Amino acid sequence: MTDTYTVVNPATATPLTEVHLASVAEADAAIEAAHAAFPAWRTMPPGERATLLRRFAAVVDAHVDELAEIEVRNAGHTWGNARWEAGNVRDCLNYYAGAPERLFGRQIPVPGGVDVTFHEPLGVAGIIVPWNFPMPIAGWGFAPALAAGNTVVLKPAELTPLTAVRLGELALEAGLAEHVLTVIPGAGPVVGERFVTHPLVRKVCFTGSTAVGKRIMAGCAEQVKRVTLELGGKSANIVFADTDLAAAAAAAPGAVFDNAGQDCCARSRILVERSAYDEFMTLLQPAVEAFRVAAPEGDEAAEMGPLISAAQQARVQGYLGESEVAFRGSTPGGDGFWVPPTVVTVDDPGARIWREEVFGPVTAVMPFDDEADAIAKANDTEYGLSGSIFTSDLGRGLRVARAVEAGNLSVNSHSSVRYWTPFGGYKQSGLGRELGPDAPMAFTEEKNVFIAH
Ligand code: NAD
Repeated sequence: MTDTYTVVNPATATPLTEVHLASVAEADAAIEAAHAAFPAWRTMPPGERATLLRRFAAVVDAHVDELAEIEVRNAGHTWGNARWEAGNVRDCLNYYAGAPERLFGRQIPVPGGVDVTFHEPLGVAGIIVPWNFPMPIAGWGFAPALAAGNTVVLKPAELTPLTAVRLGELALEAGLAEHVLTVIPGAGPVVGERFVTHPLVRKVCFTGSTAVGKRIMAGCAEQVKRVTLELGGKSANIVFADTDLAAAAAAAPGAVFDNAGQDCCARSRILVERSAYDEFMTLLQPAVEAFRVAAPEGDEAAEMGPLISAAQQARVQGYLGESEVAFRGSTPGGDGFWVPPTVVTVDDPGARIWREEVFGPVTAVMPFDDEADAIAKANDTEYGLSGSIFTSDLGRGLRVARAVEAGNLSVNSHSSVRYWTPFGGYKQSGLGRELGPDAPMAFTEEKNVFIAH
């Protein structure tokens, strides 16, 4: 295997730069250096650790535009998304900077002595990041892990290593000691796999495909290693006839075509109550056709850019070749990896496009008969990450949200990710939760100490 990777601009299919891919020996050296940096980081007074994380946040804030520009060029993200993503790293660092001084243990009443618990950091946390949202997913891992007193080794995806490398430099600029946060680009089966097998990595946080996630979980089992998995999705957007159909149709394209559908929370199945189906489709068509697809670098108003790679483009086109296309938007053409925003209709719930995660700008629509049918159809999937319910009956909204087997539901909204709230999947969409107030705890062991008196 070659030790460099050519990073490409997906909007033009032209090379941007070459990135060195680390070997197993280099991964081992990074892990051992992170292990050596752990004692000083964990024993630092909590207020000092908090100050360093706030300083890191301030340095990221000063570089939001630079980081965004890198992501626009490396991942084909729109400017609005890319600035939000860099800002999200800053916000996570600020939010979790509150944690070091609040890692409270408990005092538990027991006979014969005093019993107290402590939340102790694990050691080195290994974070493996996919290419679809390189910055936020990195931050969701390293911000709470560092706050809890762990050191971090982070492996970005081969396709999109550039912002992660820059964040590693900014951590040093903010004053974090060397090897507290190490970014190490490399191939998944080399560096990522080493995070799983190296005994000094005490926890692996993996975001990526369900297939690789299963492999990682099996590897972690060998050492009873802690593991968090954020995997694929096939989320439903459930539209009841009693909702404002125009508003629901206007919101639906953004919920699946954002980031060209390469979003684990993409609402890639739309379930519409049968009595409203024709009207909804009539309203949806102009919204899809008007969705602005353009090379984002030269177009601040682009709502969708290219797919990440030729391989991803071919994969998505494979699904479209076997589907009934209802209508689609347009693409700018040229050498980039383009697929137009596309809506397909599905009758057969066994169809591949209805069951599998496409990870492209494609949504499949199917009617449902009543509330029970909507819930049954939404749950007829091995995934369970997100979902939306559009209805004017809030009682129904809450009832359906409680019945859908997924980790993140929204009523009359498509929002899934807020750093203040827990995020993660049911079923094969993942294991464990990221974000929210408890995220630092997931990077600690709860130790119990009993003192006899
Ligand atoms: P992927 O599983 O191929 O790769 C993800 C990461 O794992 C990359 O860094 C890759 O290098 C690494 N990797 C690959 N093989 C490995 C191995 N054997 N051992 C260790 N690491 C390995 O996924 P992808 O194609 O980069 O990302 C797309 C997938 O990510 C989609 O399925 C999507 O749904 C999922 N995703 C999930 C979430 C979530 O929070 N649930 C968020 C974003 C993306």
